[in-house]
Order: sequence, then structure tokens, then C-alpha cells
Amino acid sequence: MEFFDSHCHLDPARYGADLPAVLARARAAGVTRMQVIGTRAADSESAAELAARERGVTAAAGIHPNDTGDLPADEWDRVVKLASSGRVNGIGETGLDWYRDFAPQESQRDFFDRHLRLAQSLSLPVVVHSRDSTRDCLGMLRDAMARGPLVAVLHSFTGTAEEAAEAVDLGLHIGFAGMVTFRSAGSLREIARRVPADRILVETDSPFLSPEPLRGKRNEPANVVHTARCLALARGETLEQFAAATTANARRVFRG
Ligand SMILES: [Zn+2]
Repeated sequence: MEFFDSHCHLDPARYGADLPAVLARARAAGVTRMQVIGTRAADSESAAELAARERGVTAAAGIHPNDTGDLPADEWDRVVKLASSGRVNGIGETGLDWYRDFAPQESQRDFFDRHLRLAQSLSLPVVVHSRDSTRDCLGMLRDAMARGPLVAVLHSFTGTAEEAAEAVDLGLHIGFAGMVTFRSAGSLREIARRVPADRILVETDSPFLSPEPLRGKRNEPANVVHTARCLALARGETLEQFAAATTANARRVFRG
């Protein structure tokens, strides 16, 4: 069985000297592919470096919506340069976060729009963060898709059943993280059950969002297996079926 952790943040600043052991545990658990996602220029660059030297690791470049408020003047140019270099296979994470108040809504929208246009100009998939903002994210994605083709992932989905259905209708992919394993997350599991088999992805969002039974600890890609097991059960699939489908989906999206 092979698993693809479609969203993790494995930069040295977050894992330090543990990173080789984290990668080894992932591979031992069958997590043969990891998509490392940028939140700023610096961690996007280190993700690309990791991808260049580690088998099965690929990288995305972007600026997290919560970080768009007060950026150095060259921050966006560094992301564009890296994205255009051929060293990354995705753009993000980007999107809108109305739950936190870390960056003005106007700058979040501005940067989401820039990322969408960059992804389209480079024909790269875009990784979308939405928190209490799925409706507005879908609106901007719909506008982008009216301009031209776009492959997009709504990562760590926590929206409503209607929003998930709308996302599927738009042609988007939906990623589920550790939250779906929480006892209280029955309605999210019900949403995950209804996502078509060719649109669902599984992720850890490491180092955040540890799944049950590891809740509260630093997360790592090996733990994607717990989330996959929970999702397979919710969908009435075997773990093998679920692993095969989500790995194939992520490989198609990220061309990995
Ligand atoms: Zn993330």
C-alpha cells in the first residue's frame, strides 16, 4: 500500500534535526509521497530544496493568507521566481481565512487572486486554505476558472455539505486532514463519504492537526495512515482501495 500525504509543512525550521527520522517513519508507514506546501517565500524555497534531494518529496510555493498582511517588498517576487523555476509542482498555500484576523481581508483577496493567476499562467495546481471562508473561496475560484483552466485543491476541508457539493461540481479536489478523525466530526465524515472517489485527497497538514489517537502531539506524514483508515471506514472502502484512489488522485493533481 502506498499513501500520498498531499499537504504537509516539512521545513527544517519546524522539524530541525528530526527531519530525516520523520521522513524515514513516513516511508516505513508506506507514505511514499509527500507534497510540502509553502507558507512564505523562505519555507517555499526550503521545500524546493528538500524536494530536490528527497525521493517522493515535491514542493509548492506560496504565501499563506494569514501571512499576507505585512510582507517584505520582495516576498511575492521570490515566490514568483521560485514558482517559475520548474523546481515546484504547485502553488500555495493561498486562500482566505476569515476565522483568524491576522491579515486584512483585502490583502488576503489580493494575494489569493495573484496566486490563482500565477497558477494559471504556469499551468500548476493551486492549494487553497479556507477557514470560515469556503463560500468566498469558491467565488474567487469560479471567477478564475471562467478565465481559463485551473486545477485546485481545497485542503483540510471544513466547509458545509453544500459547499463540498459545489466544489465537486466546479471540478475541485477536496483534501481531508486529521480533524475528520475527531469523535465530534461526524458531519465532516458524512461530507467525506459523499466526495467522489476521483476527487478526494488525504493529508496531515503536519506539523498541525494530529489525527486521533495522536491528537495534541506534533504531527508528521506517517500519521496520514490514521486519517486514511478513518476515511476509508466512513466511505465503506477498504484501506487498500482508499490508499490507491487518493494516491492516484494526488499524483494526477500534482503530476508526481
Ligand atoms: Zn497547510
